[in-house]
Amino acid sequence: MSTQHSFQVSGKLVDIRNKKIYPACVWIENGYISRIEKTDEMVPDQFILPGFIDSHVHIESSMLIPSEFARLAVIHGTVGTVSDPHEIANVCGIAGVDFMIENGKKVPFKFNFGAPSCVPATRFETAGAMIDSTAVTTLLERPEIAYLSEMMNFPGVLNQDPEVMKKIAAAHRMRKPVDGHAPGLRGDAAKAYIEAGISTDHECFTIEEAIDKLQHGMKIIIREGSAARNFEALIELVDDHPNHTLFCSDDKHPDSLVAGHINDLCARAVAKGLDVFNVLKAACINPVLHYRLPIGLLNEHDPADFIVVKDLTHFKVLETYVDGILVAKEGKTLIPSVPATTINQFDCAPVTVQDVSIQKDDYPSQHGLIPVIEAFDGQLITNKLELTGKLLNNAWVTDTVQDILTIEVGNLYHQATDTTCFILHFGFKH
Ligand SMILES: [Zn+2]
Repeated sequence: MSTQHSFQVSGKLVDIRNKKIYPACVWIENGYISRIEKTDEMVPDQFILPGFIDSHVHIESSMLIPSEFARLAVIHGTVGTVSDPHEIANVCGIAGVDFMIENGKKVPFKFNFGAPSCVPATRFETAGAMIDSTAVTTLLERPEIAYLSEMMNFPGVLNQDPEVMKKIAAAHRMRKPVDGHAPGLRGDAAKAYIEAGISTDHECFTIEEAIDKLQHGMKIIIREGSAARNFEALIELVDDHPNHTLFCSDDKHPDSLVAGHINDLCARAVAKGLDVFNVLKAACINPVLHYRLPIGLLNEHDPADFIVVKDLTHFKVLETYVDGILVAKEGKTLIPSVPATTINQFDCAPVTVQDVSIQKDDYPSQHGLIPVIEAFDGQLITNKLELTGKLLNNAWVTDTVQDILTIEVGNLYHQATDTTCFILHFGFKH
């Protein structure tokens, strides 16, 4: 990594807030921007703008530890994330959150972790840990915890569950934002959820739902990730609500993180004819303002977090800087790997064919119909269907003709009976 104390970068500076682009020279000293100077001289044919921010991503879904996630993300011009560590918290509790924070500090990248609000995610889950309102409050008191993470328990909010309300109140007391997670919530229910002091949502899958929530003052994080993709449905919101839209991936598998990140969403949005400044507001500015992130916005005296791109159509990233450190150059990361210890507490046995067969009497059925989960590509929401099951030797079995496959949830922490049911639309034949 290049750590010069004082240097300058010149190019066409993109002033997103004032919707202007002008030739300029940016001076960096000791990790901060000391001066920005307009120039009449020739500058290199490149654009300087603030870095991209993924406004809601579970680093764990990249299957990488934070330091390795950072090494890849900076290649695409990402300088920071708003990250809910609830996946690792579900497994390792507070020790998992500590691990993410400590490992993330070892690299020049601005992870902003939240306090997980729903560990375990539901009461039906056998999790490795529980984080109650007292533990959430303790987490929120820490300066490195920026907000209360996605409040998935929206029935708990609407019914004013005391534990849920204590967690939200703690965040409000500390003036830290509360993230929402309320797929499909509309009308009065959405209004009540928002009035409880929940200020973002990344789960909208129709524009009508998003507009409903925007009307009540919520900010909409447009999600395009590996598990759920809502970009096409929601992207036109950016031009109508440029101060209230952000971008996120939520879940980003490693193959897709290698291919691109928020830079790709910007390119796709601009290709659709959206205003480039509005798009960059959502990608770079709005997350910093909403979460009050310690990430620079290319103003004098800001931390020197910025990127240099070839153009404002493909957003090919030439250089990425975090705190004045050159962390990526022309597709190559300059952040070295750092060693990490393993903190998992898994204890499970291999899955056998026996484990995934269901005895006839152990599964609900009527007239040969069995309950089946209907999955949709690119969505997290599912349907419940009743379909004709396939019986073999007095057991319900996988039916590749109808594409009704068994799916199993195993206990990761100790040997226990697994839960098996059926799911539609995976298409596996062998
Ligand atoms: Zn999430």
